[in-house]
Amino acid sequence: MNPDPKPKFFWQGVMILLPVALMAGFGFWAILRQHNDVEQDARQRANEIVQALPKEFGRLVANELIQFDGQKGGWFMYLQWGPAGWPGDRKFNGYLTDTNTLIDVSNDVAALKSAFPDWKDGPPPLVDFTLEPNGDLGGSPPIPPRPPSWLTAMSPRQYQAWTALETADYASESLSNLVALTRAFEQTGPQPPARSCAEFIHLRAESRTQPATNAIGELIRFAGGHDDVESESGLPLTTLALAESLKRARECGPTAQLWEALRSEILQPSALTPSLLDEAARLVVNNAQLSDSIRALRILLADKQSQQELAGAVRRTGKLNGITTTNLWVAAMNRRWFCILQPDYYQNWNGPSNRFYSAVHTNISVRCYPESIVARGFSDAFKDAEISLPNYFGISISLEDRPISLRPEWKNIHDEKPDILAEEQFNMSATGVWTRTSGQESFEASYKAMPDSRSDGPKIFFEMMPGHPQFTIRILLTNRNLLFAKQRQLQLVFGSLIALAALAALVGFVAARRAFHRQLQLNEMKSNFVSSVSHELRAPIASVRLMAENLERGKIPEAQKQNDYFRFIVQECRRLSSLIENVLDFSRIERGRKQYEFEATNLSALTQTTVKLMESYAAEKGVQLKTAFNPQPSDAGLELNVDGRAIQQALVNLIDNAIKHSPKGASVQIGLEAKFDLIQLWVEDQGQGIPAKEHEKIFERFYRSGSELRRETQGVGIGLSIVKHIVESHGGRVRVQSEPGQGSRFTIELPARNPHE
Ligand code: ADP
Repeated sequence: MNPDPKPKFFWQGVMILLPVALMAGFGFWAILRQHNDVEQDARQRANEIVQALPKEFGRLVANELIQFDGQKGGWFMYLQWGPAGWPGDRKFNGYLTDTNTLIDVSNDVAALKSAFPDWKDGPPPLVDFTLEPNGDLGGSPPIPPRPPSWLTAMSPRQYQAWTALETADYASESLSNLVALTRAFEQTGPQPPARSCAEFIHLRAESRTQPATNAIGELIRFAGGHDDVESESGLPLTTLALAESLKRARECGPTAQLWEALRSEILQPSALTPSLLDEAARLVVNNAQLSDSIRALRILLADKQSQQELAGAVRRTGKLNGITTTNLWVAAMNRRWFCILQPDYYQNWNGPSNRFYSAVHTNISVRCYPESIVARGFSDAFKDAEISLPNYFGISISLEDRPISLRPEWKNIHDEKPDILAEEQFNMSATGVWTRTSGQESFEASYKAMPDSRSDGPKIFFEMMPGHPQFTIRILLTNRNLLFAKQRQLQLVFGSLIALAALAALVGFVAARRAFHRQLQLNEMKSNFVSSVSHELRAPIASVRLMAENLERGKIPEAQKQNDYFRFIVQECRRLSSLIENVLDFSRIERGRKQYEFEATNLSALTQTTVKLMESYAAEKGVQLKTAFNPQPSDAGLELNVDGRAIQQALVNLIDNAIKHSPKGASVQIGLEAKFDLIQLWVEDQGQGIPAKEHEKIFERFYRSGSELRRETQGVGIGLSIVKHIVESHGGRVRVQSEPGQGSRFTIELPARNPHE
């Protein structure tokens, strides 16, 4: 039965490859799992960071913002009551001599400077103001000016009288004329503001006849008594009085009264105020102290102008209708501003007889922070909360649905689309308190609740950010590479190990498969060998036996024929013993028991003897043996330390092959040559030759070319393998040169200096 080799090897292959396949599968699974674990850990870490933020984180941020209010407030109070005033003014001196105040102020300014690195001159970009219910900026006349209500409410008679007065004023008619026209207007019974305006026209005309100092005094005193009156143009009377006074001051120089009026004007600016300030600046160009004052006034005015801008921006959002508590983002003066709107702080103050506080206000207090300062507030709050961020995380904030650009150390952006790992919502909140102790109001803000025992006077607590601005903190995975760096390293090591193991298994698999098939082939060749040997033995033994029997029975009477018989028997026996010698040697070689006995041998003589030995066989086959020696054996010949018997056996095998493969009538040439340090012993025939692809195979044991069934030549397939073994044991090699149809030449090469010497 011929066992099917394939399924057998299939299972062996499975046994080799399966463990590696399993290992690789497990490895990849583990790597994948680890990747998930790392991501899971990152998520957890991000959650922990968010959870670690204090509950009142919103208060921390609010406090960061509110502290700037206090700093700006401190500096502006100083500007208003200090440098902006008239030198020699009581309040001014007070501010400049109080060292604590001065230290506080310079600290405030330093803090603001560091908070606003891009801020050069003018007010810090941090603006707060009050809006009246109709959206006007509280405390200032509207810009542009609007015609006053008294003008539209006039009767035709009143209007006629008013126009007459005005025309006379423009025409600079005589004072007596103006007095008469003023009287006439007053007799029409106008409203008090209209009456004040007429009086102002009269007063102004009259003041032009007086010395400048007196005139300025009169004008400013009158305007001070009518500070809520708007002129026909909508500009306040105070502004008009100041304009006239500044004109007159060219004659006499600035006065304390004029300066106080200028300061009030700046704090409640109208459309004309900037040009009045320029006029005043021209007036004091040579006065260093007053020029300082102008600088302070410019800062105060610029702040008021920012208020105007922002009030406009807030109005334009259209979200003001009746809403007094909200949070808005607006764009103004090339920035984005976060505005917190709330009812005016003072509306609930029922303090004793204070005109300002006792009024019931429905005003809206607005505080606007530029985006940069909000971002800074967040960044600082993170620092205060002692958040530590691994370098592959970043934080993103959105405040009232607007992203805030944090400082780079918190942003950490590296990847284009970072994943959100955790997010949490917070609200800003801050408590402030007004207290009143012995007639002095003080205001404090804190993100912590004020202890009640702070002062014994009446106090009002209030929420400074009643809209509770909402913000979301997100922890982002901003650098995936960094997070997975360690894991990737492991992945690489694992991957390479798996690949290496798979490669090793594959090599093992291929080697095993080859060995398996080789073994199959060998088995087949072995069984061929056995049948070849039996065949090679049977035929000659049978003929030898037959001849011997015939001779024994005296059936061959002719002496000549008997001689032929004997020669044949000897010949066959020699061939048989040569075959058996080969088989025995082969078996010794296979078992590693073959031993060589080296001794000085004359190779030329050995070759000659061997050729002689083979001559009768060759003759029988009709082949002629020729020899070629160099040097000639008649000279000393070639001496070499070899196993003479083994070399002879090798030569016999080669000559035997040559004879076997030669056609009748051909010749076989045997040569011996000494070439430098090499001895070549060759056998050349004119047989059918050997194709190049078999040149190596023929030296393998059991290999016989052609199919087993149509084999013309005798042989068992071990001759050349024995030759190879013998020659290699002598430190030499055997090679074949042959082409189909061109005969073959087998060459034994032995080193001239034998290693066994
Ligand atoms: P075998 O007993 O078959 O001769 P060998 O090992 O001596 O075994 O030779 C192996 C094979 O090499 C032979 O079967 C034959 O095909 C090929 N071979 C050997 N010598 C020659 C030659 N001189 N010419 C052609 N083929 C040869």
